[in-house]
Amino acid sequence: MPSILSDRFGRKIDYLRISVTDRCNLRCVYCMPPEGIELFEKNEILTFEEMERFSRVAINLGVRKIKLTGGEPLVRKGIVDFIASISKIEGLEDLSLTTNGIFLEDMANDLKASGLDRVNVSLDSLNPKRYGEITRGGDLRSVLRGINKVLEVGFKVKINTVVLGSLSEKEIFELIEFGKEKGIEVRFIEFMPLCGNGWNRDYFIPLVDVKKKIEQMYKLTNLKNDGVADRYSIDGGGIVGFITTISEPFCSSCSRLRLTARGTLRPCLFSTLEINVFPLLRKVAPDEEIEKAIRRAVYVKPEWNPVLSGLEDPKKVFIRNIGG
Ligand code: SAM
Ligand code: SF4
Repeated sequence: MPSILSDRFGRKIDYLRISVTDRCNLRCVYCMPPEGIELFEKNEILTFEEMERFSRVAINLGVRKIKLTGGEPLVRKGIVDFIASISKIEGLEDLSLTTNGIFLEDMANDLKASGLDRVNVSLDSLNPKRYGEITRGGDLRSVLRGINKVLEVGFKVKINTVVLGSLSEKEIFELIEFGKEKGIEVRFIEFMPLCGNGWNRDYFIPLVDVKKKIEQMYKLTNLKNDGVADRYSIDGGGIVGFITTISEPFCSSCSRLRLTARGTLRPCLFSTLEINVFPLLRKVAPDEEIEKAIRRAVYVKPEWNPVLSGLEDPKKVFIRNIGG
């Protein structure tokens, strides 16, 4: 089945990220305010049946990869059955999940049985105190047990680490060594200045600085870029990736479309532009109407990061309910 979704700038759009919930059990400093956010009512959120229908139509149009995100996807009841339902849709080649890992230990077996292909765990520090501070109360031990469990049941795992100004050299090396020991790719991500999340130049470290530090300790060999991360194999084992969203945006190779839990399509993480598909899904409109909305969202996808080009106010863009 050939992909038929491409945008005005010739980019193939085959990757859908679905934010399955706006709820989260953590309050990471760069993502959520300490008191949490105003949540949508249950009936304002897409049901899993509606998300499955949307996925089916999107896959028919050429989507090949789906990532489930949030909020925290594992807090939504019924997530495992939902994964099982979309993993069976013909044409889907890769189904993954990004999670803070707190509930992974208990859910790993069910997730494996559901047909999920891969798991990304967000882990910003291996220091329990600093982890607790960044997540405002998260227990590092739960995440580590979760990682061990998903590896044990046979998942391919990646770690995503948001680099904040306070990430020390020592911690960078600890994360690299952890990845080497477990056979996990570690990907460093630049802190994104969104939603009044305390964006402050002091927090931002361009990843080129982190890479330089790593290169003083390890020999890196360039691997194929996966469209988002600049990836390297590490001499002696392991893989490290750098996601330079701010210093070197990957807009020209962006293949993403996002569906939020409240049923809006977001063509770009850094844009407030959205197409509302909630009414279409709720009233069970014909597939053609949903296809039209998807094509429209792809059509209006900005060529370049609108926050960086000054077209959008970063304070108005919320990453937490778009799913990163
Ligand atoms: N709760 C899940 C998790 O933490 O993986 C999924 C949702 S979270 C919004 C998805 C990703 O966005 C996480 O890897 C998180 O670290 C990242 N993220 C959130 N806010 C960010 C920011 N301001 N800058 C960079 N990454 C951010
Ligand atoms: Fe929750 Fe993920 Fe945001 Fe942290 S990054 S507050 S775990 S949604």
